[in-house]
Amino acid sequence: MSGTTSEIKTYLNFIDGQWIPATSGKTCENRNPADTRDVVGIFQRSGAHEVNRAVEAAHRAFRSWSLTPAPRRAEILLKAASILEQKKEGFARDMTREMGKVLKETRGDTQEAIDCGHFFAGEGRRMYGLTTPSELPNKFAMATRQPLGVVGMICPWNFPMAIPSWKLFPALVAGNTCVIKPAEDTPLSVYNFVSALVEAGVPNGVINIVTGHGGEVGGPLMEHPLVRAISFTGSTDVGRIIGESCARSFKRCSLELGGKNPMIVLDDANLELALDGALWGAFGTAGQRCTATSRIILQKGIYKKFVDELVRRSKLLKLGNGLDEKVDVGPVVSQAQLETVLSYIEVGKKDGARLAAGGHRHEAGDCKHGYFIEPTVFAEVTPKMRIAQEEIFGPVVSCIECASLEDGIAIANDVKYGLSSSLYTKDVNRAFAAIRDLDAGITYINAPTIGAEVHLPFGGVKQTGNGHREGGIGSLDFYTEWKAVYVDYSDHLQRAQIDNRE
Ligand code: NAD
Repeated sequence: MSGTTSEIKTYLNFIDGQWIPATSGKTCENRNPADTRDVVGIFQRSGAHEVNRAVEAAHRAFRSWSLTPAPRRAEILLKAASILEQKKEGFARDMTREMGKVLKETRGDTQEAIDCGHFFAGEGRRMYGLTTPSELPNKFAMATRQPLGVVGMICPWNFPMAIPSWKLFPALVAGNTCVIKPAEDTPLSVYNFVSALVEAGVPNGVINIVTGHGGEVGGPLMEHPLVRAISFTGSTDVGRIIGESCARSFKRCSLELGGKNPMIVLDDANLELALDGALWGAFGTAGQRCTATSRIILQKGIYKKFVDELVRRSKLLKLGNGLDEKVDVGPVVSQAQLETVLSYIEVGKKDGARLAAGGHRHEAGDCKHGYFIEPTVFAEVTPKMRIAQEEIFGPVVSCIECASLEDGIAIANDVKYGLSSSLYTKDVNRAFAAIRDLDAGITYINAPTIGAEVHLPFGGVKQTGNGHREGGIGSLDFYTEWKAVYVDYSDHLQRAQIDNRE
């Protein structure tokens, strides 16, 4: 899997069961965002050559893997899930080191991959099709699921193991073979995840990893004629590039993109509960979740009290290296992310929002070696301000006042995204009205905008995606083709539909 240069490991691509360097000879460093002096590993900077080899290997492996009975494929998934369980703590620590989020969250990320393995292993013995009556006598009609072939997967860095598991497990149990491109910032967690699958017995060529920069690997992967589908999770801007490319070659394409997730808190809500939810939803993973709570829409009766208390509590959160169990908020993932978030804080101030807490880079003590930003609360934000409209992807939350539930929902829906949403109220009638009217793929009642479970559909509306969902059995619809099958046992020609009527 790796060679060692002094004490820093070099990781190679994984193609057709072999560990292979990039022919360019180029590599990329993976550094710890909590302490950039710490090099986590050296990874290959690959390109079209490695992508082609990986896709061809996956193509060769497809027939044998797709003919392996699904319950047997599922046994490998189950075994991989139990290997992940045994190695969970080490993998969680690796993940904290490579992308910064605190240990309890990286344990959760690894656990999500384990849960996903259990769930999709079950599909090995279900993967139900359907049977239905034929319109003709002595004729049997059914529809079955068939794998697609080679699937390309392009991943983000914020859920470095959970998101690859949402893609790989359903694809594999359905009989597809895969080429996965990890995000530049988090290749190690994908290696750890795939190593569990390989140890569990996935045959050569069925899973291939090619690391490298965005378009240099993602471009040839989405353009390759042997790739039947691309599953992408990342930003809306890159999703657009991928969607356009796939449309040109008629590839199936799943896009899971950005969010600007609202939490509405009504006057009758349990404020303690809502405050706990707001802190967790806004500042967990340093705000770098696609479902992060980035707008808190507060009914006017509780607005001031809520903001004051949110500000007070956000200042108590402890920043630092996520490997320290006492730390609440880790760093943002990279220098680029740091600059983006700080520039949005300037935009918020310039546009007239009140900076009520945070707003600066945090460089005290050892934090000076990392990319830390204070948990930041903007108050008096109006719905059309840029910080209320655009995805910031950092520890920054905007508080907006609303007059009523209806007003809150109108503000919540007035953005280009539609991933997650939440409402705090004790009124069941208003809760159900919000479930109906919030224009989002996910709605929580009395819980923050984060906390998805693997057996429910995950994804969003508008520019958050293109209608597919990850998680849940619905994701098999992406990784399989329906085949309609008719078996005529009448022993004479029967013409269907109107051909049969005089
Ligand atoms: P990103 O779009 O910058 O990168 C995602 C992946 O695409 C990376 O692997 C990157 O290398 C690759 N890529 C970049 N340019 C490419 C190109 N031209 N061609 C092909 N591939 C290319 O996103 P990110 O910064 O890694 O992740 C953050 C974004 O992901 C946020 O917008 C977040 O909301 C979104 N996200 C969405 C979900 C969801 O399920 N909806 C989940 C997690 C993250």
